[in-house]
Amino acid sequence: MANTALRPDAWRSDDGDAVSLLGTRCGHCGTYSFPPVAVCPECWKRDALAVEALQQPGIVAAFTVSRIAQEGIEAPYGVAYVDFSQGVRLCGRLRDWSTVHRGSQVTAVAGPLRSGPAGELYGWMFAPASETPEGPR
Ligand SMILES: [Zn+2]
Repeated sequence: MANTALRPDAWRSDDGDAVSLLGTRCGHCGTYSFPPVAVCPECWKRDALAVEALQQPGIVAAFTVSRIAQEGIEAPYGVAYVDFSQGVRLCGRLRDWSTVHRGSQVTAVAGPLRSGPAGELYGWMFAPASETPEGPR
C-alpha cells in the first residue's frame, strides 16, 4: 500500500507533526491565494508570485461533528472552518474536537485523513494550538 498526500504543493511538514500551509502572494497587487496558484486571480500576472506560509494559529469560525462517516474515515470526527490573518478561511478535519470551541486557536498538523485499499490519504488537520509542541506559531 502506498500513501498519498493531499495537495502536496500546499503544505510541508515542520518539526514534529506541525505543518506549514503554503499559498502564494502576488508581488504586483499583494493578493494572497491558498492553495498556491500559477496566475494571480486578481491581476492575472504570473511573474511575481512568491510562496508564503499562512500565519498560524488560525481561529475556529465554526465546527461540527459528523457521526456518520464516509468509507475510510472513522466516526465520529470533527470538521471546522478556520480563519487565518491573510484573509483565508479553510475547511478541515479536527484532530480532537473535545476542547475546541468557536474562537479557539488551532494549528495545522499532519495526519491520515482517510484510509482505503490503496493506502492512506495524508494531509493537514487542525489541533488546538496548545497541543502542538511549541504552542502558537
Ligand atoms: Zn496580483
